[in-house]
Amino acid sequence: MAARPTAPPPSPPAPPDPRAELRELAAWQRPLRAGFPIVAGHPGLAYLDSAATAQKPQAVLDAVHAYLTTSNANSGRGSYPWANATTALVEGAREQVKEFLGDPDPERSSVHFTSGASEGLRTVARDWLPELLADGDEIVVPFGDHRANLDPWLEARDLLAARGVRITVRELPRQAGSGDYDPAALAGLAGPRTRFVAATHVHHVYGADMNVHRVREAVGPHVPICLDAAQSVGHQPVSLAGLDVDFLVFSGHKALALPGTGAVWARGARGPAFRPGGWPGTPNTAGIASLAAALDWLRAADVGRIARWTTALAAVLTDGLAGLPAYEVLGCRTSLAAGSAVQRRGSIVTFRHHGIGSQDLGFILYSHGFMVRSDDHCQAGRSVRDGSVRVSLHVYNTLEEMEELLTVLTNLQ
Ligand code: PLP
Repeated sequence: MAARPTAPPPSPPAPPDPRAELRELAAWQRPLRAGFPIVAGHPGLAYLDSAATAQKPQAVLDAVHAYLTTSNANSGRGSYPWANATTALVEGAREQVKEFLGDPDPERSSVHFTSGASEGLRTVARDWLPELLADGDEIVVPFGDHRANLDPWLEARDLLAARGVRITVRELPRQAGSGDYDPAALAGLAGPRTRFVAATHVHHVYGADMNVHRVREAVGPHVPICLDAAQSVGHQPVSLAGLDVDFLVFSGHKALALPGTGAVWARGARGPAFRPGGWPGTPNTAGIASLAAALDWLRAADVGRIARWTTALAAVLTDGLAGLPAYEVLGCRTSLAAGSAVQRRGSIVTFRHHGIGSQDLGFILYSHGFMVRSDDHCQAGRSVRDGSVRVSLHVYNTLEEMEELLTVLTNLQ
């Protein structure tokens, strides 16, 4: 019998035209932008550093004010009404985090509040990982992502070594061209002693979705994965139901909550129970109130639309830079608009000018009202010498800002 002709592989869906996206969403975005007092109060400035920390909407400021002026007390201690209200606020916020992340099994999981993603990752490394590991075990971690997702794992290795437990730290392999993790190399590398993998959801320099589902496929169903979601939570829809990970760590302050906020979500299925050690002390209750309000605000605003908006803005910028030979865009070269099938760039665009250093470019851009990040971006393995300029966006940014930025960049060629 003649073999049936095989169907050609499906081509990736055509990416939306970013300017059409922005036109479609403009009436939705305008009132949301107006709800950020710091943005509305500084019309000559464009805040383009939301990957470092995001601005706060009035609703978040109001929630903090309401909490501090009606029921501020400590949590989990007293039994008078303000203390009870604060305990309820903190416990309610844990449930809210689970719901916001689409936790498929909230009865078994736990949420631990931290000061940010760095403390969250360090808590997993310090208070959970050592219990998992025995002499001769291996862990796989990223060497080119945020330093916060490398240093704690190396510290855990050193701590274990001091106790006579030797573990091997391997690099989560990366594809040469795209910067994406390399699932084939990872599958070859993972063996019977591979006990743990740390990965990043969205890269903080390249803006790329790191395809963490492929990491799971490569290591199989039994290895715990800790996901650094600092650049995805609050920026794009994140659903734990579609992410077979064991820890998800994020920054509240990058998701519109106050500075000094963040959380670790722990599934609690593979490995020892997650029991962050030590006496916890007084939690950041005002910060937790802000996080609860921020998650409400994001849900009402629609995180899916926020991602469409910022992705379209980033596509306009990436496509504009592609036509300016003085600049090199780091990471995947193609924007969503140009049809990247490998990695999709979210709300972050990082670039370098061939003749102007990143610090100088940062100063020049600020003289035109643009606040960008210009250094090594805390990327593991990089130094300030490798500096570049990062533009990172949130719902309050606009097409006009991208066009004006491109005009200034064009004039600097
Ligand atoms: N991980 C990534 C990917 C980040 O971008 C950042 C901050 O920029 C961190 C971790 C550290 O987050 P935090 O500032 O909340 O400690």
